[in-house]
Amino acid sequence: MAILVTGGAGYIGSVTVEDLRLGGEDVVVVDNLVYGHRSAVDESVPFYKGDIGDHALIERILDEHKVAACMHFSAYAYVGESVDDPAKYWENNVYQTIGLLGVLLDRGVRRFVFSSTCASYGEPQYVPIDENHTQSPTNPYGWSKFIIERILESYDNAYDLKFVALRYFNAAGATERLGEDHEPETHLIPLVLQAASGERDHVSIFGNDYPTPDGTAIRDYIHISDLSRAHLLALDYLKNGGASEFINLGNGDGYSVKEVIETACRVTGKEIVSQNVPRREGDPSKLVADARKAREVLGWNPGFPKLEQIIESAWRWHQSRPDGFCDE
Ligand code: UDP
Repeated sequence: MAILVTGGAGYIGSVTVEDLRLGGEDVVVVDNLVYGHRSAVDESVPFYKGDIGDHALIERILDEHKVAACMHFSAYAYVGESVDDPAKYWENNVYQTIGLLGVLLDRGVRRFVFSSTCASYGEPQYVPIDENHTQSPTNPYGWSKFIIERILESYDNAYDLKFVALRYFNAAGATERLGEDHEPETHLIPLVLQAASGERDHVSIFGNDYPTPDGTAIRDYIHISDLSRAHLLALDYLKNGGASEFINLGNGDGYSVKEVIETACRVTGKEIVSQNVPRREGDPSKLVADARKAREVLGWNPGFPKLEQIIESAWRWHQSRPDGFCDE
């Protein structure tokens, strides 16, 4: 039986594909390569280029492989873009996911691991944020994930779909072979490393008037190998008959934008010039996870919990592949 991985050529998906295979699973990838990289997926993995909303394609995949479960990574994930062009997010993240779920259910695939997000909480009322915290997203990206979570609940109720929705905090870092290569790049750590390596002359700090100790926004950065591991555990959990769950994935430590830049200066030994600019619309001030449930329900334990380790791994990857994947 195979695991269908949507968005398996993307940043988090590709690492999970590699780990699934190391764990002995058969994997099938579907990715439209809008943001993913073909070379991030090993040639030996069955690969289908196309949209998850393409019913005929998903049906063909399910005809050609015995699929036991789906891990659904594919989505647009730019907070700022989602504010400027929300239609893209409703269409891709919501509408196409509904199409995917419809085909999976038609064909009896009832195990689903979903990439959700801490952006579904919105401005926190308390930190660390546990899974019972109210969800009131501050941008269409967060809403698009929130809506799919509600759809999953209703599908469990009506059609017995069993899911784990993993609410990621800030994915970062790299493995030896796979790392973060977005076009355009908007994420803090890769941008900071580009500034360290001289590819850009500075990094912008989006807002220095947040209600945080140094005025810059705080996030909980989690290594992608730890994220990937949680997906494998979620899959085992569902295979063992686990009930549907919403689970945070973070380290429980918050770092401000300034602290990320300072840590990157230490790790790289380079000077990193920063410039204060206004806040980015849709950004909450502080997102830090209470990830106890991941430990309790999934038995998850982060292997790389320290920001230094995360940035070190990203820096190693950045130096080994300064131009990223260079394919699609
Ligand atoms: N950020 C920043 N400058 C940048 C990119 C990001 O100050 O060039 C900030 C952003 O406002 C947020 C944090 O860094 O507070 C992490 O942003 P990122 O885009 O990496 O992830 P997000 O939290 O949006 O998922």
